[in-house]
Amino acid sequence: MHNIESRVKKYDCNRKVGEGLVIYWMQRDQRVQDNWALIYASQLADKLGKELIVVFNIVPDFLQATWRQYAFMLRGIKKVSESLAEYNIPFKLFMGDPGKTIPYFAGSVKASVIVSDFNPLHISRFWKKEVQDKIEIPLYTVDAHNIVPAWVTSEKEEFAAYTIRPKIHKLIPEYLGEFPQLQEREASIYTSDIVDVEKTKDFLNIDFSVDEVNWLKPGEDEALLVLDKFISEKIVKYDDLRNDPVQNYTSNLSPYLHFGQISAQRIVLEVERRVHSQELKDKFIEELVVRRELADNYCLYNKNYDNFNGLRDWAKTTLNDVRNDKREHIYSTDEFEFAQTHDPLWNAAQIEMVKKGKMHGYMRMYWAKKILEWTKCPEDAIKIAIYLNDKYELDGRDPNGYTGVMWSVGGIHDRAWASRPVFGKIRYMNYNGCKRKFDVKTYINKQGVL
Ligand code: FAD
Repeated sequence: MHNIESRVKKYDCNRKVGEGLVIYWMQRDQRVQDNWALIYASQLADKLGKELIVVFNIVPDFLQATWRQYAFMLRGIKKVSESLAEYNIPFKLFMGDPGKTIPYFAGSVKASVIVSDFNPLHISRFWKKEVQDKIEIPLYTVDAHNIVPAWVTSEKEEFAAYTIRPKIHKLIPEYLGEFPQLQEREASIYTSDIVDVEKTKDFLNIDFSVDEVNWLKPGEDEALLVLDKFISEKIVKYDDLRNDPVQNYTSNLSPYLHFGQISAQRIVLEVERRVHSQELKDKFIEELVVRRELADNYCLYNKNYDNFNGLRDWAKTTLNDVRNDKREHIYSTDEFEFAQTHDPLWNAAQIEMVKKGKMHGYMRMYWAKKILEWTKCPEDAIKIAIYLNDKYELDGRDPNGYTGVMWSVGGIHDRAWASRPVFGKIRYMNYNGCKRKFDVKTYINKQGVL
């Protein structure tokens, strides 16, 4: 079993611990169960003999998030606050700039330490730096998202799945243990804030026209139900049918993973406990653990994870070589957004994302590669794909999304293929390839119109 300290980054070792409570500033891992950051904060509070409080800060806008994603998150956060109450852990909800609200609160309660969870994206690192610069107590970061903490797996940007896979597999036995039980605490002198989802609307400066979806319910309990359904009904066909967007045998866990409403470690523990076929387990763990943790590695170590400069030299060279190739179609962002291309299959994928908030994984590759084919340069393709992905996908604004776009458009973690116009040596996908994999007509008809 691993030492929990290896999950913790302590940048401010020399700072003096304050006198007051321990704050867990929850960001990416929005759950009470199976949360290493909360467990660590709770153990630290015990060690210091202090109270523990959990705080969450809402910002008025976040990347391209709309009401669809905010509502999913806030309804999950409401459940977090209720669930924390069962452990006598008070919860505070702030609205504003975390660079101001968190230091202000820490100062007002003379906090001893702030513990937070790990997110490799720029925005989260920027907030942490702002907080760190304004407080005088330590701020610790706990990787509660990856099974093996990102910095333990590797200290550098990994080249591809085949370079990170052996590192992860070597460390998994050490890290894949059962979680310690979260302990009920003594009654607190602090009162909890009530999370009123509707009331937060006045504060938000986002697009409310992209509405909530009702086929997937937010929250930790719901995430476990979706996991249970996947293990009992779908995983047997995961290997055969996961690339068929008509059958849809994937888990649908990505929105829960994105908002941290379920732990990847819990998913693997359950799969290990309930699935007997090693082959099936391996297939699923390759996606859930290797590919997902590779995406965190990419965003952690490549500061250009969301733009052309983040591509490998071979990919930049080949895309520059074909930069002036004639494109058969060039579409504007609006034409893409409103599913107005000449290709009914592409339009159907876009409609699936706009209406459902989750495009099937196989279609995401085709969708992004066609954006490369139908824009005037790869820079535009990356920008448009990220804009649409982040705006409509429930699981968008995630390392997986940036890596997925950079894989499709710029060959990140992929190899060079035979050269062709517009794509250069970037892997190509076409309509006929999809026709060979699944019933394209049924998929198109299923999505309807915008
Ligand atoms: P399952 O097949 O059930 O997989 C289980 C879990 O494994 C997923 O939830 C996810 O966490 C992980 N996983 C699966 N495939 C990948 C992959 N290729 N890379 C990394 N992790 C993976 N994923 C997101 O979470 N958010 C995004 O915004 C996102 N955007 C993408 C954009 C493009 C252009 C591409 C090509 C891929 C993108 N992906 C994204 C990765 C992948 O398509 C989704 O994770 C997957 O479709 C989610 O559905 P699921 O949970 O049913 O998948």
